[in-house]
Amino acid sequence: MLDCIFCKIIKKELPAEIVYEDEKTIVFRDIHPKAPIHLLVVSKEHLPTINDLKTENSEFAGNLILVAKKVAEKEGFLSEGYKLVFNVGRGAGQLIDHIHLHILSGGYHRPLSEI
Ligand code: AMP
Ligand code: ZN
Repeated sequence: MLDCIFCKIIKKELPAEIVYEDEKTIVFRDIHPKAPIHLLVVSKEHLPTINDLKTENSEFAGNLILVAKKVAEKEGFLSEGYKLVFNVGRGAGQLIDHIHLHILSGGYHRPLSEI
């Protein structure tokens, strides 16, 4: 997608603080962190929202979660704990239409109702 911010980060056309990358996935720090640790797990394939996933995309979704766990271990907050959030659609606060999984940690203990 030509004007997708996350596709531009994937293609290294926009800067980002990348903490992990493999052939299918990239993880970078959120530019406006909502917790002391706020990372975004982004698939290199452009799909707008979780609503676009079909049954055959279960590996796509599972990969994002497994990468989040791998990064939690690599970055040292696996045992402390972390929250994983998909915003799906504008009403839930999704602003960037390229599927991404938020990882929030580092003293992040707000209840779900306050997110
Ligand atoms: P969402 O609201 O779920 O679509 O999340 C989009 C997230 O992307 C927000 O938390 C933004 O702060 C973050 N964001 C937007 N632009 C950038 C960027 N250039 N680099 C890193 N994070 C970004
Ligand atoms: Zn994209």
